[in-house]
Amino acid sequence: MSEARFPKRGTPWPELKAELIAMQGEDTPWTRGLFGLWWPNPSPEVFQVQKEAAALYAYASQLYAPWVPSLAKIEADVQAMVLELLRAPPGAACTLSSGGTESNFLAVMTARNWARVHRPEVAAPEMVMPYTAHPTLNKAAGYLGMKVVRVPVTADYRADVDAMAQAVGRNTVMIVGSAPPYSHGRIDPVAAIGELALRYGLWLHVDACVGGFLAPFFRRLGRTLPEFDLSVPGVTSISADLHKFGYTLLGASTFSLRDAALRAHQQFDFHEWPYGPYRSVTFAGSRPSGPIAAAWAVLRLLGEEGYLEIARSILRTTELFVEGVRRIDGLAVLFEPEMGVLNVVSDEVDVITVADELTARGWPTARFLEPPALHFLMDRVDNESVIHELLAELASVVGDVRAGRAKPAEGGVGYESGAARRGL
Ligand SMILES: *Cc1c(COP(=O)(O)O)cnc(C)c1O
Repeated sequence: MSEARFPKRGTPWPELKAELIAMQGEDTPWTRGLFGLWWPNPSPEVFQVQKEAAALYAYASQLYAPWVPSLAKIEADVQAMVLELLRAPPGAACTLSSGGTESNFLAVMTARNWARVHRPEVAAPEMVMPYTAHPTLNKAAGYLGMKVVRVPVTADYRADVDAMAQAVGRNTVMIVGSAPPYSHGRIDPVAAIGELALRYGLWLHVDACVGGFLAPFFRRLGRTLPEFDLSVPGVTSISADLHKFGYTLLGASTFSLRDAALRAHQQFDFHEWPYGPYRSVTFAGSRPSGPIAAAWAVLRLLGEEGYLEIARSILRTTELFVEGVRRIDGLAVLFEPEMGVLNVVSDEVDVITVADELTARGWPTARFLEPPALHFLMDRVDNESVIHELLAELASVVGDVRAGRAKPAEGGVGYESGAARRGL
């Protein structure tokens, strides 16, 4: 616990700022975490634009967009750009949310409410999803009183559509595909999952939090990828995070519906209080509009050309990194990376210890369990030398682990929020 006391007197900002900067000096520079634990790292120019655009709207709650016409316009512009990128049919709708968690929550909630109307015989609604789907879907299901059935994936780490079909039962109202799952980064066969959804009249949600703003540009560079967006028959809704490969300020994601009429199941509409109507399509009420303004600015700053350049850089980073890993004795990549997610495995050294030691040496690296692996998220880089530095450190750590000179760190693997870790 911190020793901080609520202050009697105020402290001038220059002093506080100096204190913050001094404390940050103890952290690993976040621009170095680009291969694992941090979200995509924008260029210094994009970072500056994020901050300036957000500051212009720091005063405004998104809840008040009806009274701030410029904010309503910004929101509508972002929604239109997103729906075009996700190849939405005419009549689709997009909601701007605070992050992938909220976007997935809106999907589960809207599907559940839709099922109450269209599948009234189902008293205990269930959703079927691949084992690799994101935990936020279980989190949402927990809040919303839905049961989740997770189904094993195929040997190449994609959704097993036959197994999903077998798991669909009388109470199933929703199925999920990921584009891609964060764990293995391989896009699920969404077209086949869409056929399943159409056959049984199920709500299909695609979690494209990672790939929504990257796959379209990989495809334009000639990569062949499974189809997953709103142009795929059977896809009802899709989540895509602006604050991941959209390179926008943290706090921005999107939830899109194939048909705006489905909004009826998403909207909270309340009248019985002294103020009269209270309507909302998101979980939060007052929420910052800074991330929306930042998203608007970054999408327009970069444009298709800017995102293509980023996509090219990620492909190049991935190629260099995979080549480098293959040159390190004892390490292998689990499979050819499809979307910048890369799992590095070994038959010879304990990769969890390798991840711990890399982290201790200032390269925060995610640890992965099934199978044990180092988990990297490839990103654009300002300078390729950072890849060679990381590879050199990785080779040195592998040598030390092999020689018994490194021990695994205390503590768990995976993700825990800071507060959860401190038991708050
Ligand atoms: C990151 C992620 C989420 C959750 O998003 P947050 O922005 O962390 O709330 C959901 N699904 C996938 C596939 C993700 O990678």
